[in-house]
Amino acid sequence: MSSDWCFPFKTPPEASWRGGSRYFGAPRSKGRKHGGCDLIKPAYETIYAVHDGVLVHEETLFYLGTYYVTYQHGPYLIRYGEIQKGSTKGAKRGHKVKKGQPICKVGLMNGYKASGPRGHMLHLEMYAKGSDHTPLRSNKGPYMRRKDVMDPAPHLDEWVKNLP
Ligand SMILES: [Zn+2]
Repeated sequence: MSSDWCFPFKTPPEASWRGGSRYFGAPRSKGRKHGGCDLIKPAYETIYAVHDGVLVHEETLFYLGTYYVTYQHGPYLIRYGEIQKGSTKGAKRGHKVKKGQPICKVGLMNGYKASGPRGHMLHLEMYAKGSDHTPLRSNKGPYMRRKDVMDPAPHLDEWVKNLP
């Protein structure tokens, strides 16, 4: 269904989103499982919309000084996480984007250099019910996310064949 969508970067990351601790379901502390896929990229690298969409959650603090935004793309919600503060340029809820349009940048984590050994990344989460805009975070379940959280990997495998 999303096979004609595009990848969120101009080039694929060197490390696969299916390896290391980057994959959906990878173990995290206290029994939690990773709720998305990590695309390792340098801080400040531009992130592109994977499909036409509309902003449903504006830039919000996420992790170690990085932020996230959530777009509705067709039937899915996609959370672009660990992005740079201010990189959405104040885009408001209802803001419309086209597939392949720049929407934000990879965030610089507090305490790390842009080119340092700590990999910066796009942490990408995907949800099945695009029209359900209730909070994505949850205190229940291994992912600590809304129940319809899903593995983005099969989609990324398709999108990487179509770079923006
Ligand atoms: Zn992640």
